[in-house]
Amino acid sequence: MSLINQIILLQDVDNKLFEINKLLGDLPTKVQELTEEEDSVKISLENKENDLKDTTVLISTNETLVQTTSDKINSLKDKLIDGSISTNKEYDAMMETIDFEKNLLDEKESELIELMTKKENLSKEIDEDKASLDGIITELKSKKDDLNVKMEEVSEENNALKIERDNIAKDISEDIMETYMQIYNAREGVACSEILDNNCEGCGAYIPPQLVNEALSKEIVNCGTCSRFLYKSENNTKN
Ligand SMILES: [Zn+2]
Repeated sequence: MSLINQIILLQDVDNKLFEINKLLGDLPTKVQELTEEEDSVKISLENKENDLKDTTVLISTNETLVQTTSDKINSLKDKLIDGSISTNKEYDAMMETIDFEKNLLDEKESELIELMTKKENLSKEIDEDKASLDGIITELKSKKDDLNVKMEEVSEENNALKIERDNIAKDISEDIMETYMQIYNAREGVACSEILDNNCEGCGAYIPPQLVNEALSKEIVNCGTCSRFLYKSENNTKN
């Protein structure tokens, strides 16, 4: 078989493969998108759960600190009135210590409130993430099932076509294959064009007689305008 006829055959097989893939619709893309979404929510959830653990530990440390500081202030206040202080200087020093501890207590109590708010928000976000993860997993499973059913429907034909394609392609040089793929993709599945009356059927451009003759003798000729591989059928040789 001539090279140009092999290229035309390759285009037919590629078009059939394209149609099969179209049957799968957006399922492969959807499955991939959902898988990526699942991964990203899982990572976010894990980070939040770790953050929640750390925050819970911090809250507990802070609660202990608030309690001990509060106890310390109470015992200092007791000393103010139990007669253990005799001079004004001692009294001033004691008041200063109490003020220091009170400031510390205020600081720790504010931190505690912030941490508790953070914990509450994290718990809420974790619940939301878990719910959305459930939704994603359910949708992913259903899309995967649909995809598998469709893949099963077309797999036999798909495999047969791929084998056919390999058989055709192995006789075509790498350079020509590369050019073919470029034109095939750029020209949306029409890489080959017939010469009808001295014109390229694909783009309408005039094809000089010498190129028409080359195409007739099955040489590899490309349209100067749209780059498609040109061919001319034997039964269409007028002009
Ligand atoms: Zn053309």
